[in-house]
Amino acid sequence: MKTLIIEKIEPKIIGELVTVGRILGETPDLLAIGQGEIPGTFNRAFQCRETIAANLVDSLAELIQKNAYQVILLSATTLGSEIAGRLGARLKAPVLSEVIEVKPDMTVKRPVYGGKAVAEYKIPEGHVILTIRRKYFEPALLEGTSAAEALTIENPSITLLSEDQIQTQGVRLEDAEIIVSGGRGMGDSGNFEILREMAGLLNAAVGASRGAVDEGWVPQTMQVGQTGNIVAPAVYFAVGISGASQHLAGIANAKCVVAVNKDEEANIFKRARFGIVSDYRNFIPVLIRALREEQ
Ligand SMILES: Cc1cc2nc3c(=O)[nH]c(=O)nc-3n(C[C@H](O)[C@H](O)[C@H](O)COP(=O)(O)OP(=O)(O)OC[C@H]3O[C@@H](n4cnc5c(N)ncnc54)[C@H](O)[C@@H]3O)c2cc1C
Repeated sequence: MKTLIIEKIEPKIIGELVTVGRILGETPDLLAIGQGEIPGTFNRAFQCRETIAANLVDSLAELIQKNAYQVILLSATTLGSEIAGRLGARLKAPVLSEVIEVKPDMTVKRPVYGGKAVAEYKIPEGHVILTIRRKYFEPALLEGTSAAEALTIENPSITLLSEDQIQTQGVRLEDAEIIVSGGRGMGDSGNFEILREMAGLLNAAVGASRGAVDEGWVPQTMQVGQTGNIVAPAVYFAVGISGASQHLAGIANAKCVVAVNKDEEANIFKRARFGIVSDYRNFIPVLIRALREEQ
């Protein structure tokens, strides 16, 4: 199937989408959003500087129709989801979001009911738009760079006035091999300090459940789950987190979950490889002491 990737210039994400494209057949073409060199060698690469979905969609639809692309691949990020919805309406094409598995026979899988079940679909003939969940596909190695044909955007309807990058301290959640997350069971924003101390010793990122975010203890950028960050670390510590399905949806691809919860009935223990039934205030200081002794 003739496939087009639409993605910002983020080599890891483009690599994941190339892997998906190759499962479906040919190496896909790329429409790179933003400025900079195009990583990887593509038969055809297009580039545009515009990053606002509403401004992009008319030109993208024209490009897709002109080149008869059948499968459009985007990552299941905010931008990818915004573009996918608009393109679907514009092209009258079906959109399958948050895809986690793709097979050469054109069947795909995605989680449904807040991650409680996985549904399988057959990709129809004609245009289809897939948003791919991050970290479910090994990124293809992108060697070299590609020259790009410029895609011009006529009469953008929305004007970007400013963009301020939010500064995050320490390891980024999406890159972290180890994540230490706290939930409502932490009891207070100040109590997250002990998790930051532990994360510092493990070179880990600090995350949170929506419970902790809703309490206003930590910013939303730290939220892990269905409506937060989807993460796939080697080790995920869930401290004072009950294990609601929406939280588990964000850690489905974590290799080893370690849960600390004082309620032995907490749902998180069903997902955890290691479970510690304890008040975190008793357990985490002991763990920190042990980690310090190791160093
Ligand atoms: C549409 C929708 C989307 C959502 N998206 C997300 C999402 O992306 N991410 C997310 O996390 N949630 C999400 N939620 C919310 C989710 O349903 C839960 O409400 C939320 O995850 C609960 O957070 P929590 O586990 O921190 O809090 P709680 O459910 O209140 O659990 C706190 C836990 O801490 C334990 N505890 C208490 N004190 C201690 C202590 N001293 N030591 C050890 N353990 C202790 C308790 O036993 C309990 O298990 C979503 C909900 C909806 C409806």
